[in-house]
Amino acid sequence: MENGKVYLVGAGPGDEGLITLRAVELLRTAQCVIYDRLVNPALLNYAPAEVELVNVGKQPGEKSITQEQINELLVTKAGEGKIVVRLKGGDPCVFGRAAQELKALAQAGIEFEIVPGITAGTAAAAYAGIALTDRDYSSQLIFVTGREAEGKNESNIDWDLLGRLNGTIVFYMAVSNLGIIAEKLMTNGKAGDTPASIIANATQPTQRVVWAPLSEIAAKSAQEDIKPPAIVIVGAAAKDDQGLNWFMKKPLFGQSIVLTRDARGNLELASKISRQAALPIIFNTIKIKPLTESNLFIEAVSELAGYDWVIFSSANGIRVCFEGLKKLSKDARAFGKAKIACMGRSSAKVLEQFGIEADFVPTAFTSAQLAEQLTKQINLKDKKILLLSSKITTGQLANELKGFGANINEIGLYTTIPAENDANRLIEKIEKNQVDWITFTSPSTVRYFCARIRPELVNSSRARVASIGPVTSAELARLGVKPDLEAQEYTTDGLIKAIRGFCEKGP
Ligand code: SAH
Repeated sequence: MENGKVYLVGAGPGDEGLITLRAVELLRTAQCVIYDRLVNPALLNYAPAEVELVNVGKQPGEKSITQEQINELLVTKAGEGKIVVRLKGGDPCVFGRAAQELKALAQAGIEFEIVPGITAGTAAAAYAGIALTDRDYSSQLIFVTGREAEGKNESNIDWDLLGRLNGTIVFYMAVSNLGIIAEKLMTNGKAGDTPASIIANATQPTQRVVWAPLSEIAAKSAQEDIKPPAIVIVGAAAKDDQGLNWFMKKPLFGQSIVLTRDARGNLELASKISRQAALPIIFNTIKIKPLTESNLFIEAVSELAGYDWVIFSSANGIRVCFEGLKKLSKDARAFGKAKIACMGRSSAKVLEQFGIEADFVPTAFTSAQLAEQLTKQINLKDKKILLLSSKITTGQLANELKGFGANINEIGLYTTIPAENDANRLIEKIEKNQVDWITFTSPSTVRYFCARIRPELVNSSRARVASIGPVTSAELARLGVKPDLEAQEYTTDGLIKAIRGFCEKGP
């Protein structure tokens, strides 16, 4: 068998946006991904569903895989002819044992490429508002491992140089040895009042920053209970300037937000709220079950071009419809001259992905408003309309449209069924006050959530409840949950905006 190839790829420091386009491109084509503990698991979603995922990171309490075993694994998987992505935190060639892995591959005659990543040292500085170099106070920058500080004999660190260095020192893996490191720097000439800072969990919603003079940094770090992974920066660059610490000032920074949609919807929403420095807690309540194998759908598809309008009531409906069309060996052309409407801008974007520009997108989000706006656009009387909706909401929009004299054929394209989830884990988080928000985006997510988690627990906890709109709020009220806020625009963006507004202003 022909050998595969190994790509040694940097995953960046944690924030999922800080990965390179090349890394994403490779993940999309990977057959095997071998990843470390510090890699953001959200990045694994770029890999195809059938990919082989191997976690070689040490988990607390688990026996760790040795470097030799990892080298062997790389050679074996590539030997099986696979495209292997070896995904490492930060940059693979900065304190990443890249040399050992590359040597093993070269020896085995396996082709490889290296894709650099954003290393934790520069990312941590950026996300704490620290400029590592400055023409006034730092013209030199050095990256040092803190692991070797203890081993006096085998240490390769030139403490004499570091003590004298007029510039910025960035330490990796330095939390547990911080006292020794500070001591060594000072005995080698660094002034005790040299500014120092520690940035833990940099670029993530759990980021923390501590500032102190070098002589006090170890004590302050212990006092603040700083845990790895963390970067320690020493030098004038690290002076306490909280005014520049932009990331932690984002309104949603650090807010733990429970997402209760289906798996795909949750991933989308998680990505949006991660962008705002919040911490998504994914709790899939529902699963979309397509009903496109039904004769109703198959018949409607064969007559698609005969309709005046086709209306999609949700983005999920659009996806399910096109998957159904594909199974019937059809595509967007099946709609012929029929005009197409969909509910809302995000649905319109999904439609675009399938090559169709919506002919009508209402600016409001309820059935009544859609019907009213549509009548203003066209005379609905005797128009032949195919309404593609979800089985759960059938009837609502159809009745509105019939009221205007339209001839409606409505098909429920999908239904929702309960998803598998770990309710006990979420209950524990709520009980331990580790949840700031629980979000709901539809009545069915409310029902399936409440079937697993008692409304009383939610009401008695400090977690706040955010609803996407009145229909969802009504379902919450029916089941005894009091929403703390309701979005003004009934979209996920509107929901995030409402939570942000709440955090900025208070209730
Ligand atoms: N190759 C990685 C470094 C791996 S060594 C890179 O280029 O970033 C592991 C060390 O990296 C940790 O002990 C810590 O010092 C640092 N590190 C990694 N991720 C970090 C993060 N999100 N915040 C702070 N430090 C981090």
